[in-house]
Amino acid sequence: MKISVENNSLVVPNVLDIPYIEGDGIGPDISKATKKVVDEAIKISYGNERKINWTELVAGEKAISKFGTPLPEDTVKKITEHRIALKGPLTTPIGGGFRSVNVTLRQIMDLYANVRPVKYYPGLPSPLKNPEKVDMVVFRENTEDVYMGIEFPADSKEAVQVIDLMSKLGYSIRSGSGIGIKPISKFGSMRISKMAIDYAFANKRKNITIMHKGNIMKYTEGAFKEWAYETAKEYGDRIVNETEVAGKKMDGKLVLKDRIADNMFQQILLRPDEYDVILCPNLNGDYISDALAAQIGGIGVAPSGNIGDNYAIFEAVHGSAPKYANLDVADPSSLTLSAVMMLRYIKWNESADIIEKAFVDTLRDKQVPQDLARHLGVKALTTSEFANSIVQHMAAK
Ligand code: NAP
Repeated sequence: MKISVENNSLVVPNVLDIPYIEGDGIGPDISKATKKVVDEAIKISYGNERKINWTELVAGEKAISKFGTPLPEDTVKKITEHRIALKGPLTTPIGGGFRSVNVTLRQIMDLYANVRPVKYYPGLPSPLKNPEKVDMVVFRENTEDVYMGIEFPADSKEAVQVIDLMSKLGYSIRSGSGIGIKPISKFGSMRISKMAIDYAFANKRKNITIMHKGNIMKYTEGAFKEWAYETAKEYGDRIVNETEVAGKKMDGKLVLKDRIADNMFQQILLRPDEYDVILCPNLNGDYISDALAAQIGGIGVAPSGNIGDNYAIFEAVHGSAPKYANLDVADPSSLTLSAVMMLRYIKWNESADIIEKAFVDTLRDKQVPQDLARHLGVKALTTSEFANSIVQHMAAK
């Protein structure tokens, strides 16, 4: 059975088909581990009442060897029909002129938000003195900014034309310059702002910070900030500007602030407990997400979701780490925690809670795969042993 949409809300059947892309390299190992953990959590939470039927879809290297394309039409069709998918990492084909699978899926399903929760779990290696203060969620706009790929190489016909046009408009660009375009729209900025604000209210977050470089890029990043404030106005007095907090009763209200991008990098290191939801344009989001991941154990444990209006793909943040392919040594945490996001997205929160708790208990007992074991100085578990350990900790709840 598939998810449907009624009155703009997801209707999730108790027996749910979820398509998954196993991924290349370490993909098969971490997908197997993740599915096992998720299935067990659902069994413990709901007995026989709820179940996921996993349907494998091919993409990446497997699809290239079978169908000559990394993203067969049938895969796109099935993900779109099901509205949701779990995706392992894919190796980017070198040469061959294939379009990025991630970018293509994002465009087709209009997954306009990249959502990255960054939360410290005790036991993870961290360079911070007080990593337990890190609990943020990044909302990165996913469709605009320099990622639209509008770029012209130096001396190309298009670059020369743009330089000529700019000269007519009174701007001098040095000849022999490469040109990149950075479009940021009101529509794109306001819809991600709304998603981030709605998330903040639904999850009882205290504040939301717009991260921008509007002091330099006034009509792109500066406009993003203005449009985010404009969106916030629609919520009336439920949102309070940080400059107006003094003396106000804050119960249930959300504080809105903004920070210039470079400052934001020191804020997350020096005052992490003052930041909660971070809302930013595409490029800032790319940078800040990985910087934050480094504070809580690295990309091996950071989850993510690409989310649109009633469509979502949840995926590991890291790549296919080919050197660990089929060795059963990779850390499945990023994909498993992405599956936890997926369970929360479909509101199967009980099973999400069980996995998170078991994950914390497994870390506490220092039963971890090699990427974490080498920092903690303990013996490493294989990928499947780690998954088994999480399952055992769930059963012992
Ligand atoms: P990567 O696959 O993320 O791996 C880089 C390094 O990070 C690994 O060598 C390993 O470090 C560590 N690592 C990442 N994930 C890990 C895990 N689950 N468990 C343990 N260690 C992990 O980055 P890459 O080598 O630059 O990229 C490989 C391929 O993946 C490329 O084709 C790239 O384009 C693609 N990629 C795909 C996606 C995606 O599908 N979303 C994202 C990023 C990259 P150590 O060597 O220090 O142990």
